[in-house]
Amino acid sequence: MHFELTSDQSQLQDAARRLSQGKLQPLLAAHPATKPLPKAAMLEIFGILAQFGLTGARVPQEFGGSGLGMLDYGLVFEQLPGVVALALIAHEGTISRLCASGVAQAEPQLIEALLLGTKIACTASTEPTTGSDPKSIKLRIRHAGGDAFLTGTKQWITNGTIADVALVTGKTEAGGELQRFLVKREESPFHASEIACIGLQQGHLSELSFEDVRVPGRNSLPEGASTMKTLTQAWLINRPLLGLLALQLAQRSRDIALAHLKDRVQFGETLVNKQLIQNALVDIDASIAAARLLCLSALDAADRGLATQALSAMAKRQALTTADHAAGIAMRLCGAMGLATETGVEQNLRDIRMITIPDGTHEILTLIAGREITGASAL
Ligand SMILES: Cc1cc2nc3c(=O)[nH]c(=O)nc-3n(C[C@H](O)[C@H](O)[C@H](O)COP(=O)(O)OP(=O)(O)OC[C@H]3O[C@@H](n4cnc5c(N)ncnc54)[C@H](O)[C@@H]3O)c2cc1C
Repeated sequence: MHFELTSDQSQLQDAARRLSQGKLQPLLAAHPATKPLPKAAMLEIFGILAQFGLTGARVPQEFGGSGLGMLDYGLVFEQLPGVVALALIAHEGTISRLCASGVAQAEPQLIEALLLGTKIACTASTEPTTGSDPKSIKLRIRHAGGDAFLTGTKQWITNGTIADVALVTGKTEAGGELQRFLVKREESPFHASEIACIGLQQGHLSELSFEDVRVPGRNSLPEGASTMKTLTQAWLINRPLLGLLALQLAQRSRDIALAHLKDRVQFGETLVNKQLIQNALVDIDASIAAARLLCLSALDAADRGLATQALSAMAKRQALTTADHAAGIAMRLCGAMGLATETGVEQNLRDIRMITIPDGTHEILTLIAGREITGASAL
């Protein structure tokens, strides 16, 4: 068992850090911190990520994917700013789902544009009345004259307002079966608006409204074994990736807290000299290191074909619990300064809270892991 990165992985990680600090952070800093970025800025970001092969991390190489291993993807992913990472996982995850549904063969130019980052994608499953239980989807599909007409609302959709294409799931009016569509916004216009949230405020979390929106019949995606496999594969990877992202945000708060404590004098000496402070810092470091290893091991298992839903669910669950707790302690250790927006500590905590929900809440992840451990489903 090797815990050391290979020289290639170290170089990749360094390059990702430089990309994040040199290009992505300045781009984000050039825009207001509390408003969704303009689409032009997001296109620039996706263009940068495309040069790095990240838009096609999970896309097979025969369709233009980068052939990046999932562990390597994780090492890069954890270096990205939160807003960028979440937008990427939605965009890149949608491209890989489209490829698995035959869109790469039918529409190679569309896939090429998505991989280059000149077009943006999103996946729209969640609805106002459908969250953890995806089978209860209500968006209505009416078939007429070879076309489909979609009516309903999708909510909490990452990249929704800026997306050129959406992978939309609905239920047929006639038989009540779930059916997925590639919805091209130019061809099938739908309304999209932003939902203001606690964190990741430069990102796009959107509500999409469909009112009898016509989608050509050819844009219906086939359901089959490969579709189900892609969906479950997506969770195997998304969950540890989101875990790494949350831990990275907690780590940033820990770094800010440590710098503050080295500087801050109370009771005649710097606070880092106090035993209780050292105890808190050790708790943070030990818990982040342990949860990060669990996430990396889940991605490594995916590379070796050994990933399980329980492992990936536990990785996200452990990482988010740890990140939330560690970032909370880091905030406390900064005293009142931890509450001030200027330190960035409070923003990290708000951003972590955002990541707790997508791709499985704490309870859902618990039930998934519990089902695999016990063989009994409590979902
Ligand atoms: C930042 C962000 C990005 C997102 N991106 C997307 C996207 O791109 N596309 C998309 O389709 N959706 C997206 N979502 C939506 C996300 O997938 C849902 O919010 C999530 O599935 C939870 O659904 P819900 O919010 O309706 O919560 P609910 O399902 O209503 O759950 C509410 C609470 O009840 C608990 N709960 C639910 N079922 C059970 C149970 N059986 N036993 C015990 N407790 C239970 C949950 O854990 C939670 O605490 C995103 C959400 C966020 C916050």
